[in-house]
Amino acid sequence: MNAQLALDVEQISFSYGQTEALKQASLQVSAGSFVALLGANGAGKTTLFSIVTGLYSPKQGSVLVNGHGLRTDTMSALASMGVVFQRSTVDMDLSVLQNLRYAADLQGIPRADAKLRIHAGIEQHGLSGLEKRKIGALSGGQRRRVELARALLHRPTLLLLDEPTVGLDLQSRSEFVSHVKSLCTDEGTGVLWATHLMDELDTDDDVYILDHGQVIEQGTVSELTQTHGVEDISAVFNKLVGSKVS
Ligand code: ATP
Repeated sequence: MNAQLALDVEQISFSYGQTEALKQASLQVSAGSFVALLGANGAGKTTLFSIVTGLYSPKQGSVLVNGHGLRTDTMSALASMGVVFQRSTVDMDLSVLQNLRYAADLQGIPRADAKLRIHAGIEQHGLSGLEKRKIGALSGGQRRRVELARALLHRPTLLLLDEPTVGLDLQSRSEFVSHVKSLCTDEGTGVLWATHLMDELDTDDDVYILDHGQVIEQGTVSELTQTHGVEDISAVFNKLVGSKVS
């Protein structure tokens, strides 16, 4: 066990019937680091997230979250992670504040503590002034920030985001990515960011490329572009996976 790892996935395999979705996939996220999981449609990203969040049990392999075994110490492992799913899961008819209060109640955070955390989260995620607005009346970027505030209420050491910027305009996307990256540096949160939008990555970001359920390449963006002698990470991806993904 490596205590510095927010997430340690070792040799995970998973099948849906005859379809092998993950084949001995391993992946690590250090505390305070931003790791991108790149893969085309059907590569296995969502399956990996489903396993890490405990929705599916792998037939082989292990998952440690902040040193806690997902299988052996499930409650501590789950309590150490926050998740932002691809599809919005906030209640459109409730206000920002109501959504956050509801989430805090579900997580069993005592009311007085929840009030402080919600207030801090609203400020930290640039939602001040929007507390009473219904989610349905927010922009896409603001909604994503509410989801982020909610995912971080219980102060997880690992944050998982499954294609969180799909549907956002360019400016909201880049603001959201920068905001999440600041959590890594300021709070020491380990982030696993699944995406197929490669312009979201910086040269020093860690990348895992998943293809047909296998991790086929791993390294920082600059290492991979250098190794493969190409200009950017999307050229690395196209070279290895052979499909055009923007
Ligand atoms: P996307 O970016 O399109 O969401 P992904 O990288 O998340 O793709 P997965 O959804 O994990 O990929 O799918 C991995 C493989 O498992 C694919 O071949 C997919 O068709 C298959 N698969 C996913 N869910 C199921 C399911 N419920 N039943 C059967 N096969 C499935």
